[in-house]
Amino acid sequence: MRFKYQKTHHCKAAIVLCMDFRFWEPVIEYLKTNNINDFDIIAVPGAAKEILDPKSNLVEKSLQVSSRLHCIEQIIIINHADCGAYGGRKKFDSIEQEKEFQLKQIKEAMNKIKQQIEVKKIKGLYVDLDKAGEKINFAQVN
Ligand SMILES: [Zn+2]
Repeated sequence: MRFKYQKTHHCKAAIVLCMDFRFWEPVIEYLKTNNINDFDIIAVPGAAKEILDPKSNLVEKSLQVSSRLHCIEQIIIINHADCGAYGGRKKFDSIEQEKEFQLKQIKEAMNKIKQQIEVKKIKGLYVDLDKAGEKINFAQVN
């Protein structure tokens, strides 16, 4: 296999996403479709949940490495529906309530990271599931 990054050690973005095996593949497909091709991956349970945990600075430390070594311009924080770190879908009264809560978590995590890491752009993404759990939708948070 050919190594395509022989001449560069920089990338455009770092993504912070949940480690859940069900979601990383569609997320990466979505990012590539949106022309985000090279990125560091920080995978932690609950993504925004870990960022907002006052006892943890794991994500912050990882993003500092991305910033210092890979000169990233963009950070994308990605949460998803039915996340076990938040107690799963059953923890919420409805899909709408879950989405509203998750969008708020993402926004709060974006604001916290904004204060910690100097970067051009911070975005959020919520990976939603329909009621039957058959279809994935992406909602951007700016
Ligand atoms: Zn999760």
